[in-house]
Amino acid sequence: MAPLHPATHGIHADNRTNILTDIAPPIHTSTTFRYPRDPSKLHPVSPEEGEVIDLSTPLIYSRLASANINRLETILAPLMYPRAQETELDSLANHVVSYSSGLSAFHALLVAVVPKVVAISGGYHGCHGVLDLHRRMHGVRTVDLHADERAWDASGIGQGDLVHLETPLNPTGEAFNIAHYAARAHARGALLSVDATFAPPGLQDPFQWGADFVMHSGTKYIGGHSDMLCGILATAATPAGLKQAQGMRADRIFLGSVLGSLEGWLGVRSLRTMELRVQRQSSNAARLVAWLDGALQGGEDGALVKKVVSRVVHASLQTADFAWLKPQMPNGFGPVFAILTHDSDQARCLPSHLQLFHHATSLGGVESLIEWRKMSDAEVDERLLRVSVGVEDWEDLKADFLSAFQALAEGGESGEETTSKASVQVGQEGARVEGAAQGSV
Ligand SMILES: *Cc1c(COP(=O)(O)O)cnc(C)c1O
Repeated sequence: MAPLHPATHGIHADNRTNILTDIAPPIHTSTTFRYPRDPSKLHPVSPEEGEVIDLSTPLIYSRLASANINRLETILAPLMYPRAQETELDSLANHVVSYSSGLSAFHALLVAVVPKVVAISGGYHGCHGVLDLHRRMHGVRTVDLHADERAWDASGIGQGDLVHLETPLNPTGEAFNIAHYAARAHARGALLSVDATFAPPGLQDPFQWGADFVMHSGTKYIGGHSDMLCGILATAATPAGLKQAQGMRADRIFLGSVLGSLEGWLGVRSLRTMELRVQRQSSNAARLVAWLDGALQGGEDGALVKKVVSRVVHASLQTADFAWLKPQMPNGFGPVFAILTHDSDQARCLPSHLQLFHHATSLGGVESLIEWRKMSDAEVDERLLRVSVGVEDWEDLKADFLSAFQALAEGGESGEETTSKASVQVGQEGARVEGAAQGSV
């Protein structure tokens, strides 16, 4: 049979794991599993042998492995290694390790690599919070990812250290050249990890451009429905990569940050439609960005858009980079972009004038979200709004923006209903809303 395409793998990659006749996968919640009844089949644990746990190991206890999680990791393999041969997929599933959140995946990466120096710059602030924990525990140092070779020399970054590239970048959706950072890392014996959350499988394959590790907050596009926390860490499709993944799977037993069984099941549900969702979200975003940017250049709706928007940021506008960017993102750019308004008041007020974009943090779900980013990231420009485009019809999203710009340009207060709803929510869920300001994505 000819090799299958990702859309088909999303539906069928787990067929070989089916035991029951259910079409929709069963939900397994057991934390513990019966040993064989035949005493001759009982093999006592032998720590000296350093036994490898992988997806073919009989289930023992769900902190080690469990059915819904194994199924999720099995489906992710052909999606994360789109260039792999069909015959390699069974083994490649062992290169994909899931976690309870994106940050627990990043923590697991640092625990596995134990870098002395990490090159990193900006991006999702939570990853810097994880690095702070490692700084406290064993004094890991950081150097600016974009600094020149002299600054990297001065930091001592080298063999066994980590270059961590987030691309596309939170919160703007700008893309960076993976091959460039792979070359810089490898020239000094360091490893390249790519946080590819903003360009899930189907949009970008960081392994093709030299990444040693690919990380995702699976909470975003892999989950895709704003209803599950999940992290994914995958290693290169090489013997060294397999060893690293085996180490991570073994570490995970003691980190304890295994994905919940119900989340694993939700993740399987989500992967069925990931390609469809992400393609729609990506093309919606590109259309909205082209319209907004065109308006700023004097095109359609220019006069109105210019009253509110000063700049739009998105990979689709990086035309000077297309020589490397188009090959690295051949199927479309990420579905998140940023809008900069003229002043912080406009940025604070715009979300309340929108009907189809929820004002909330996070991204990647089927529903469009907008966030005045100052709500959750202290470092960010106070005029920045982050937009996560959903699967709605893009013309409706455009019309929603237009009427919000109109209302804002007329100096209208935001709808009273929205204001009172928000205050009720603060009253009832004050603790949660405050917590969000520190822990949001
Ligand atoms: C959300 C996010 C994370 C953290 O993921 P969680 O699942 O919230 O722990 C890491 N990196 C990026 C780019 C993210 O957007």
